[in-house]
Amino acid sequence: MIVYNTVEDIVRICRENNMLFWQVIMRADAQERMVSEDISFAAMREMYRAMKRADSEYDKNLKSPSGLSGGDGEKMRIFNSTGNNLCGAFMGLAMEKAIKMGESNACMKRIVAAPTAGACGVIPAVFLSYETCFNAPEDKMVEAMFITAGIGAVIAKNASIAGASGGCQAEIGSASSMAAAGLAYLQGGDAECIAHAMAFALKNMLGLTCDPVCGLVEVPCIKRNSAGAVNAISSAQMAMAGIRSAITPDEVIDSMRRIGNAMPSCLKETGEGGLAITPSAQRIKETLQ
Ligand code: SF4
Repeated sequence: MIVYNTVEDIVRICRENNMLFWQVIMRADAQERMVSEDISFAAMREMYRAMKRADSEYDKNLKSPSGLSGGDGEKMRIFNSTGNNLCGAFMGLAMEKAIKMGESNACMKRIVAAPTAGACGVIPAVFLSYETCFNAPEDKMVEAMFITAGIGAVIAKNASIAGASGGCQAEIGSASSMAAAGLAYLQGGDAECIAHAMAFALKNMLGLTCDPVCGLVEVPCIKRNSAGAVNAISSAQMAMAGIRSAITPDEVIDSMRRIGNAMPSCLKETGEGGLAITPSAQRIKETLQ
């Protein structure tokens, strides 16, 4: 039976059994659900395709019921096509897809919560853009999805993936670290590199508050998906360059839990602090009443 509770567990199992990171996660999933590894892989492929469908069904004309969101993903698409993109085709496309997915969520369209709906744009943005820009085969993308699932499981076990208990570091931060880990693998990183990509991404998001305006998963959530995607890419790139985190990946996760516990409740999805109590937010609130 494969059992892992920490990132270090996964890295050690890889080393001792000469397995790849994604294979450890897939085998553990198959064993836990008492299905074959083929069935486990097929289920993950379906998850990836659901992300793809959600991305392709983005509707640039939709507005969320509050009227706060919609159409910004299309603005990014148009800007990306002008040739003025500041950050290259891959990162530009990831930013566009992250905003589109966040808007689709706000507009009640079908999305994949990965790991939550507030953070649903980060992983598909990074992965679908990678597949497009680097011509990656779908099987490889599914393998990377297992890596995101394994990292997400460890974070959920040892810290949190809910803004209400850990702040936004637990949502966008977790999604970003999951995407960074998968991206490091896609670029040829080994288990250690994957673990450090994850550590960088989560470190960069520690302390991020959950302060949604009017309690809606729109402001600042949608644009934070874009930031989470960019952070994932830069984190994977640092790890691929051979840079290593001075704080171990599991200690970063532990830190996230402690920071989340120390955060006042006004910064944990209650709408009583941070951006949610600014004069701008108050004005938005009045228009919605
Ligand atoms: S601000 Fe809160 S609701 Fe919005 S994405 Fe972050 S954790 Fe989720």
